[in-house]
Amino acid sequence: MTCKSNADLQAIVDEVRSISEKGTVADYIPALAKVNKSDLSVAIYERNHSCIYAGDYMRKFTLQSISKVLVLALALQDRGVDYVFDRVGMEPTGDPFNSISKLETSIPSKPLNPMINAGALAVTNMIKGESENERWERILQFVSCLANKPNVSYDLEVANSELETAWLNRALCYFMKQHKVVEGDIEELMMTYTKQCAIEMNCFELARIGAVFALNGLDPETGERLIPVHIARICKTFMVTCGMYNASGEFAIKVGIPAKSGVSGGILGVVPEKYGIGIFGPALDEKGNSMAGIKLLEILAERYNFSIF
Ligand code: GLN
Repeated sequence: MTCKSNADLQAIVDEVRSISEKGTVADYIPALAKVNKSDLSVAIYERNHSCIYAGDYMRKFTLQSISKVLVLALALQDRGVDYVFDRVGMEPTGDPFNSISKLETSIPSKPLNPMINAGALAVTNMIKGESENERWERILQFVSCLANKPNVSYDLEVANSELETAWLNRALCYFMKQHKVVEGDIEELMMTYTKQCAIEMNCFELARIGAVFALNGLDPETGERLIPVHIARICKTFMVTCGMYNASGEFAIKVGIPAKSGVSGGILGVVPEKYGIGIFGPALDEKGNSMAGIKLLEILAERYNFSIF
């Protein structure tokens, strides 16, 4: 399937691109800092499997936190709803994505939701497999299937760069190991988590994943079921309540669709029954969301009445 450039979409991209000047690229993972701040691309995948784009839509970026929603979908299939939510909660935190504070104060002592780092680390730990390598291969295969991309790969430099500096994520893991939320070797878990965050794709492939969620788990091209309906629904609900970190409330009011962002500047958007959206704009606001990406979605939502509310 090909994606066609679209003049209206390009006009919006041109209109919002300059906002990126006010943002900053994530540099707490050193290798992420090497991007061009003013990049901005978007692809919209329609349910009849046509696709439009604007900007350099083939440019690859790493999923970072967007991977959290995909690995959650796999963990729910592997373990079932009860097992997953015995160990991870369902409530938004209002805190930054890497915060440790509520891990200690919440009762029982478990991460508040799967979209913050603590919750996502616990979810990655739930993926089934005989070895860490088998767990990782299953994550890759699942994401390949959603993106319809045979050999989804990861950016080794970004993964290693995060692995060398992720002391806070390690602290979250060790805290959760003490409280039996995670089990096994923490360095192996960290390796799988940093690799899942470093999975790379372009915004066309990300938009296609959005279309799978828009269709409640069906492959937009073949109609094959890739995710059970109840799991697609849970994932979309988390995207609404926690997908844009501690800016999810404002995003729900201004845009009103399930979405998940990552600190690489990616955003996965879902307009139920209609579109999957993939965006890449690496200049971030203070909460870690793509500045131009959010503005672009605000304009699209208003113009095309996207809000689900
Ligand atoms: N890999 C990143 C981290 O764990 C993902 C965070 C994000 O995208 N918000 O810090």
